[in-house]
Order: sequence, then C-alpha cells, then structure tokens
Amino acid sequence: MFSDIPVDVGIIYEGERIRWPDAYAEFGGPRVEYKFELVKSRRMDEIEDGKITIIGPDLKDLEKKSYPFGIYVEVAGKEIEEELEGVIERRIHEYINYIEGVMHLNQRYDIWIRISKRSFDKGLNSFTYIGKVLYRLFKSELPIIEKIQITFITDPEKVKEKFKEAMETYEKRDARARGLTDEEADAFYGCTLCQSFAPTHVCVITPQRYSNCGAISWFDGRAAARVDPKGPIFRINKGECVDPVKGEWTGANEAVKLKSGGEIKRVWLYSAFGYPHTSCGCFEAVAFYIPEVDGFGIVHRGFAENTPIGLSFSTLADSTAGGRQVDGFHGISIEYMRSPKFLQADGGWERVVWVPQAVIERVKDFIPKHLADKIATENDVKNVEELKQFLIAREHPIVKRWKVAEAEIVEKPSEEEKVEVAMTPPSAMPTTEITMPTITGVAGGFKIVFKNVKIHAKEIKIVRNKEK
Ligand code: SF4
Repeated sequence: MFSDIPVDVGIIYEGERIRWPDAYAEFGGPRVEYKFELVKSRRMDEIEDGKITIIGPDLKDLEKKSYPFGIYVEVAGKEIEEELEGVIERRIHEYINYIEGVMHLNQRYDIWIRISKRSFDKGLNSFTYIGKVLYRLFKSELPIIEKIQITFITDPEKVKEKFKEAMETYEKRDARARGLTDEEADAFYGCTLCQSFAPTHVCVITPQRYSNCGAISWFDGRAAARVDPKGPIFRINKGECVDPVKGEWTGANEAVKLKSGGEIKRVWLYSAFGYPHTSCGCFEAVAFYIPEVDGFGIVHRGFAENTPIGLSFSTLADSTAGGRQVDGFHGISIEYMRSPKFLQADGGWERVVWVPQAVIERVKDFIPKHLADKIATENDVKNVEELKQFLIAREHPIVKRWKVAEAEIVEKPSEEEKVEVAMTPPSAMPTTEITMPTITGVAGGFKIVFKNVKIHAKEIKIVRNKEK
C-alpha cells in the first residue's frame, strides 16, 4: 500500500494474531504495569504536522521482552474539539492492526501490541514506520484532522509520567457523561467499529450505558456522528421505551437489527439475561453469573488469577465475546459499573458478590454504602464454597434471595415421590437456559453444526425411580 513502508498495510491484516513464539517484542500487555494510548486536541500553532518522535530505544535496539509503552497523538484542525479525542483515539487500534505483522489489542491504559519477527526481518525495525502509517491513515480517513504529530514512548520513566496524564484525561472524559440520564438524552449512539472481529456486534452507547471498551462515551458518540455521519459511529433515534427497567427501546432494537444484518433483534441495555447487549472482544470486564450463589462475579482484563468459579478472565471472555447474546455472560466497561443503571434489571450492585480488589478501588465511590464490606475479592475467597460462607457471614442481601427461593420450594409440595431439585441456593432466573457455543452432529453423510445452541427449560425435575 505504501512503497516506503517495508511491510504491507491493509484491512486484510486486521484480526491477525501474533503468538509469543512468533513475536519480535511486545509492548504493553498483561506483563507490564504502565501502558497507554492517548489523543489530545491542540491549537493549530502547537503542532508540527507529520512529526514523529521516539522517546527511548527504538524497535531495532530492543530484545524479545515486554516493554512499558505509550502512544501519544496530538491533533489539530478547525473542527477538532476535545469531545473528539476519545473517538480519534479508538481508531489507533484499527489503523495499527492494518499493518502486516503488528497486533494491537484493547485500548486506553490496557493496550497490548506485538510485532512479529517476520515483519521485523522484512524491515519493520522502527516505530517511525508505524507513525507514518498512522499519519497517512488518520489524514485520509478523518479529513477533519488538519495537523497531527505522533510520539512513541519506550523510556519506562517517561511512560510512567505520561500514564498519569492519560489516566486523568480518561477520568475527565468519563465524568462528563455522569449526571445525564438515558431518559433525558434526545438520542443514543451506536458503534460498529468492532465488527471486524465480531461481525454481529453493535454497541448501543447511552449516557448511562457506556460502550463495552470504555473508550467511547455518549458525548464522544455524539461528536463522532456529527463530524462523520456515515462512519462507524452513528445516531440512534430512541423510539418508544418498551421497558424502562430492562432498558429496551424500539429505536435501539431497530438499529441493532439493521447493523447486525438481522442477527440481533432485541437488546436489553440493563440486563445480562434475556436479550443482553452483545459483547465484542475488547470489553474491559466480564460480568458472569454464578448459579450457586445466584449472583454476579465481575472480572477485569488485568486480573491474572482464576475467579472463584475456577475460570480465568480469558476463558470467561471466550464464552462471552463474538457479538453474541449469552445469558449470564456480559461484556462491560468499568464506567458502566458507576452507572445507576448498572445491571438494573438483575438487581444491580445488590446482585454482585465478587469483584477483584483493583476494580473495587476504581469504583468504590459508586458502590452503595451498605454493600461496602459485603462484596468478596480475591483476598477473601478462592472458591465458590468460601464465597457462600463469606456472603452468609457478611449478610450480603443476596442471602435473603436464597431464603425466599427456598421458601417458595417448601410451599409447593412435590407430587408422589417426585423430588424437585432447585440449585442451592436456587436460581432466581425465571427459566433455566443452557447455552452451548456449538454442537456438531453427523447424519446421513452430512455434518450438521448448530451454533450458539440454547436448551430452554421452564422447570428442571429430577425424579427418583420407584424401586420395583
Ligand atoms: S467496544 Fe463498542 S464502542 Fe468500543 S470500539 Fe468496539 S464497537 Fe465501538
């Protein structure tokens, strides 16, 4: 695509995965604490258009390791305003992924970049090449950017210093949408940027339901749709509110149906059951239902241990991602956990039983006071049995739900010798639904593949056989 870039650049490389054995080096990712990408708007006279700076060692001076890393992009233009920073920043992910042998995952403070050995050997040995690609794609795809300068930072001290500025900027952006309600908003916004990885995924961004990646707020969506109405971020007319508790709007349903090619027909914005918001792959955290305690655990991308149900973030993310609606597995942003509408239809914070300490620290001001010491972390419990004991000992409100459900079962005596068994504590879900990603069968010489199979049962009965 560009004759002066030693590797190919194009949309076909988006989604390319680079395994560690094939990597030349890694930047950001789970092994390093400090990493970020940040876009800042500037005045025209503050920018030297096309300037690319590298602070710290360049690619060719590095060995195979994980490095702290920062990408700092400054933009200017008559139409450029602060509200567009988040939207421009999200495009870094897309454009870097166009480069052959370069993998970019996630966003903001969570970026993870790998350069393949193969591309390095072809000559991709300097961040300058990556900067040139970013410069050209930004200028051609977003003409509102009149000037742009790009800085790559590998010096650990400088990364740490700029990381602080990045975190303060993200917090400022996120705080802007707090206070505005979904009812007050005149429209919602949709985003399909992640469809290259999850073709049926559509983010519905409202003031009180932040995008899954945590990088695009309602204000960002509004600004993006205004400057590029035919782009991947678009306005959604709300239509009628069908259910204010679950968060269902006719306009959101229509938009999601259209943009998912008819695959997704309804969306409940504030629930992880029924018709939950789809999950792409770059969500910041996963809310996962734990039937044994009838509550939700939440795990973020940076959590390296197993959750109390014995599964890691990546295993749970695999069960959640792909643009599907999976009952009880829900990709979310950290900012959504600060929203009064957070899992509102499922009980909100009263239904949350386990969250890593690092996430608690970030959202503690938004957890209802009466729950402050009742939600377990990795420091309190390691498995479901310990979790149950913790919840009982701390008198978490979820325990009352178990008692109510138990009482309901006692009130309904079983017929004959039939034994009705509910999960202990029983699930409060109205019906039981088991979702399996794929079932394959072979019949009559054909292979039949059922994708996202759901087994739906109104009741589960275990009947003891009478002895003959
Ligand atoms: S997670 Fe949603 S808002 Fe964020 S880039 Fe993907 S589709 Fe867009």
